[in-house]
Amino acid sequence: MKLAGKVALVTGGSRGIGRSIVTALAKEGAKVAFTYNSNEEAANNLVKELELDQRVAVAFKADAADGARAQQVVDEVVEKLGSLDILVNNAGIIKDGLLAAMSEENWCAVINTNLNSVYHYCHAAIRPMMSARKGRIVNISSVAANFGNPGQTNYAATKGGIEGFTRCLAKEVGRRGITVNAVAPGFIVTDMTEAIRNAAGAEIEKQIAMRRLGEPQDISNAVTFLSLDESSYITGHVITVDGGLTLGSGL
Ligand code: NAP
Repeated sequence: MKLAGKVALVTGGSRGIGRSIVTALAKEGAKVAFTYNSNEEAANNLVKELELDQRVAVAFKADAADGARAQQVVDEVVEKLGSLDILVNNAGIIKDGLLAAMSEENWCAVINTNLNSVYHYCHAAIRPMMSARKGRIVNISSVAANFGNPGQTNYAATKGGIEGFTRCLAKEVGRRGITVNAVAPGFIVTDMTEAIRNAAGAEIEKQIAMRRLGEPQDISNAVTFLSLDESSYITGHVITVDGGLTLGSGL
């Protein structure tokens, strides 16, 4: 129970990697609030599951791209749960397509959900954290920030942006006892990767040193580690959790 007494907020926490992060932080004793966009059933199921396990979990329906709603969610978390110690910016979507055919709508949807959301939630959370002179922010990036996947100009732009944002904010708030880091997952088994998994999962597996696709728990383990008091001297870094996928093919 290394997070007993802490309050965490995870965006996009109802499914996939976010769900695993919510569960992992709650199992370490944190009270966990999380947001979701549309799948209310998945959110309610997670709250019930954690409550049955005697954990405290609260779900907020909140589009991550909505800045006013982000402020409301953060205010309510602080008011209802007493503080905000850990913020995990996880909400993300893909709308892949080659740039020549990419609509402005698909460009903006991904930028708003994946990147602008990180601004909204950090902007809302940073004041209570600065007042408390402590805090942990973990932003979920992707190996796509550096990998150069065709069809992902929008997605890679958001993840590269998140990594630059992470380094800048880390320098701004380090002296206040707040750490800001990112975790860059490789290929993880979630709804987001279902289509590509079905088309090329076996091929992708061969490129991974550990010879398996990642599980959401591989990512939540890293996020939990960065959320601990013991991680207070790690800031401004991106931890890649990809089983060796991006090590390259060698000579
Ligand atoms: P996922 O399985 O599709 O789950 C996405 C989660 O985000 C759901 O809980 C969803 O809630 C929520 N969400 C989506 N749009 C939202 C919005 N506008 N506002 C609030 N919540 C929203 O995705 P995932 O694979 O777990 O990905 C989670 C994060 O990891 C993303 O940032 C993604 O870019 C990153 N990542 C994933 C992989 C991978 O291989 N899976 C690799 C690298 C990075 P609803 O169900 O309500 O929509």
